[in-house]
Amino acid sequence: MNPFHYQRATAPEEAIHVVAATRGAKFLGGGTNLIDLMKYDVEHPTTLVDINHLSFTQITSASDGTTTVGAGVRNSDLANHQTIRTNYPLLSQAILSGASAQLRNMATTGGNLLQRTRCYYFNDTAYTECNKRNPGSGCSALKGFNRIHAILGTSADGDSDTANCIATNPSDMNVALAALNATVHVQGPKGKRSIALRDFHLLPGTTPHIETALKPDELITSVELPPSRFAKHSCYLKVRDRQSYAFALVSVAAGLELDGSTIQSAGLALGGVAPKPWRSAEAEKALVGAPATVETFHKAADLAVAGAKTYQYNAFKVELAKTSIVRALTLAAQGVQA
Ligand SMILES: Cc1cc2nc3c(=O)[nH]c(=O)nc-3n(C[C@H](O)[C@H](O)[C@H](O)COP(=O)(O)OP(=O)(O)OC[C@H]3O[C@@H](n4cnc5c(N)ncnc54)[C@H](O)[C@@H]3O)c2cc1C
Repeated sequence: MNPFHYQRATAPEEAIHVVAATRGAKFLGGGTNLIDLMKYDVEHPTTLVDINHLSFTQITSASDGTTTVGAGVRNSDLANHQTIRTNYPLLSQAILSGASAQLRNMATTGGNLLQRTRCYYFNDTAYTECNKRNPGSGCSALKGFNRIHAILGTSADGDSDTANCIATNPSDMNVALAALNATVHVQGPKGKRSIALRDFHLLPGTTPHIETALKPDELITSVELPPSRFAKHSCYLKVRDRQSYAFALVSVAAGLELDGSTIQSAGLALGGVAPKPWRSAEAEKALVGAPATVETFHKAADLAVAGAKTYQYNAFKVELAKTSIVRALTLAAQGVQA
């Protein structure tokens, strides 16, 4: 049992001040990931600053069509909100495919953005080698059972084991937010700033323990969704070992804006295959201006997984990702949800 302090914040400035001034302090959202990791002895915050009583639980729409989601909005409330269901069904579908109803009732938008990997070797301290948990210690997953691990964006050149990491980002919500081109708004001791979702999660490089562009004392305050383009043609397809209560082996968030059968714009992101929601500019470029046909979708799928690097147990993910992309884009074009 690791002792820790608990403090309830009533204003963002107060929460930020305590986290900035207290070594090892962390914000507490729904606690569905952080508390588990504390029980597993993976995370050891000195102080939990409870942000559940801050008033950032609104979903608002501006006249230009932008929608802003407070960081404290629960996953259930977000997925079931009328604006989200109507204008951003991709996001609604992605969230509802994850976890369980009880977990979604607790989990927050900010916490979901920052949920940590489900790599077995990260979550189990019996394995001493984990560069994410214990920088410089090695990577048990590289030599271990790496069936759920990443095939894109990893750091595993084989020369030095002290920085390698092949863990995936496990979130479904993040994949939809990537395809929708969301922006994350944050506030810290030095003021407010905005980070495009595509830049929010980082690739491991030589620092797999640094997972996002967020500084430890910065609070996520909201997520902004640009005006909806894909309401009529989108699909979140999640492939997993069982149909509920399981993380994605591969997932695809696909959004198309069609003019007749020509693709005007596209958002395509993959989950379960990379350390961050994986977007391929080349794949999206191949879609725009092209006819919404299976041939076009195959071309985009090939481009999306170009450069994939596989390990002993996860080579199947390349073909699975390609097939899933084609299926998700086909269903999106037809206006059918997975
Ligand atoms: C059994 C199980 C199954 C699951 N299945 C899925 C699944 O299939 N798909 C899926 O996507 N997810 C799944 N999840 C994960 C779940 O979605 C996350 O645990 C949840 O979204 C985390 O949100 P939270 O508010 O509880 O975060 P917390 O646990 O409170 O926090 C997570 C991290 O975010 C930080 N944080 C929280 N809010 C803020 C903020 N506003 N600003 C800055 N930092 C903040 C915390 O300090 C902590 O580091 C599952 C979880 C469990 C336990």
